[in-house]
Amino acid sequence: MKYQSTRGNSPLIGFQDALMTGLARDGGLFLPADIPDVRAALAAWQKLSYAELSFEVMRLFSDLLEPDLRALIAQGLTAFRHPEITPVVPLGNLHVLELFHGPTLAFKDVALQFLGRLFEYKLDRAGGRMNVLAATSGDTGSAAIHGIRGRRHMRVFVLYPHGRISPVQERQMTTVMDANVFALAVRGSFDDCQEIVKELFGDLPFRDRCALGAVNSINWARILSQVVYYFYAAFRVMERTGKPRVRFAVPTGNFGDAFAGYLAWRMGLPISRLLLATNENDILARFFNTGIYRRGRLCHTLSPSMDIQIASNFERYLFYRAGEDPQRLRAWMAQFQATGELQPKGGLTGKPDPFFAAGSADAAACLAAIRDCYSAHGYLLDPHSAVGWYVAQSFLDPEEPMICLATAHPAKFSEAIRQATGRDLAHHEILDALTGLPERRTVLPASAPAVREFMQTKIGGGD
Ligand SMILES: *Cc1c(COP(=O)(O)O)cnc(C)c1O
Repeated sequence: MKYQSTRGNSPLIGFQDALMTGLARDGGLFLPADIPDVRAALAAWQKLSYAELSFEVMRLFSDLLEPDLRALIAQGLTAFRHPEITPVVPLGNLHVLELFHGPTLAFKDVALQFLGRLFEYKLDRAGGRMNVLAATSGDTGSAAIHGIRGRRHMRVFVLYPHGRISPVQERQMTTVMDANVFALAVRGSFDDCQEIVKELFGDLPFRDRCALGAVNSINWARILSQVVYYFYAAFRVMERTGKPRVRFAVPTGNFGDAFAGYLAWRMGLPISRLLLATNENDILARFFNTGIYRRGRLCHTLSPSMDIQIASNFERYLFYRAGEDPQRLRAWMAQFQATGELQPKGGLTGKPDPFFAAGSADAAACLAAIRDCYSAHGYLLDPHSAVGWYVAQSFLDPEEPMICLATAHPAKFSEAIRQATGRDLAHHEILDALTGLPERRTVLPASAPAVREFMQTKIGGGD
């Protein structure tokens, strides 16, 4: 499989090169040159374990030797505490896909436990070093740090908005003492962090000198790892219910997870609808309901990993909306950059995409969802998953079972649980064990030069 940039000005490259490059040099994101049709394989795939299914999905997109790919998948999955990796739990009239059984208790572990090992594998063979740079609103950073800590040939620099992530999320990053880990608290918003990362990746001499690598969901391998659990969950629910099609409700921030679902559908998985659930930062919900993509003001919510106005992966979807025409996409992105607004015309646009539905939940709805789900089922949803669960209630259909993605363990957001239920119900021994441990972090201003300078001093002149 070869990879193309959404902006069309980069040569086609292989999987391992796309993996190491992150953002394409023309500013675009990598996509496979074509999407394999797997409908003929679905019946056989239904019988596979999570590890076997991962292998079958990923081998279609990767250029690794097959035994190596198999081994890397197996090693990544050892970090998960559940034998099914991503179990699907029936809950009333819907199903919850639990994606939080990895080391940092959020779905991002699924991709990052694999990605860290994949980088190490590649660097073992190609030589050299890599400096991973990522922006996080909480969960990506800890998952990246736990995927890369102690791995050979790599450092990881994580930018997060100072004072705007939960104390427990911060501790998941700052208590990691491995010498190759740097937690950087930036005085600004998550979008500022994301902008700094973009700017440094756009500084090509710096990028080359430091061998910058990306782990946020612009990295194609992350999307690919997430495609697997859509297949896995759909199979479990189709078995359980005997229905031929399913729906998914996806709490959305950067549109990475949602794009993985879109891809699974394009590959032939019978998903009838993908429901995008946003919090008050509802740019994506507004787009799918009105056709206008307009930047709004960022607000801070109970679901901070979805506090995003500019969804970086949305460009991948727009590429298909543009009829896979990079020139049209470039014009759209330039328009959005200049005006903060985009109403895509031409390509496949003009009507809404019937595959997606969208809704949003504000703080009151999110808290009510946590409370209602707990009182009806004794099941605690974290605030991100609760946004999905809330929006899902308006799209239930007995013929098309609904699978709600549970993207984080409630204990990561115990304050919201307390607010919703009035009780201190959400705990996890992994998080409790972090309290009182020594912490290490550096506070920096929201400026790309400051971050660049910090990185240069840590990286030094050598490797
Ligand atoms: C990252 C994250 C999301 C949003 O996922 P995207 O791929 O950015 O859309 C939702 N919930 C949780 C808990 C997350 O960490």
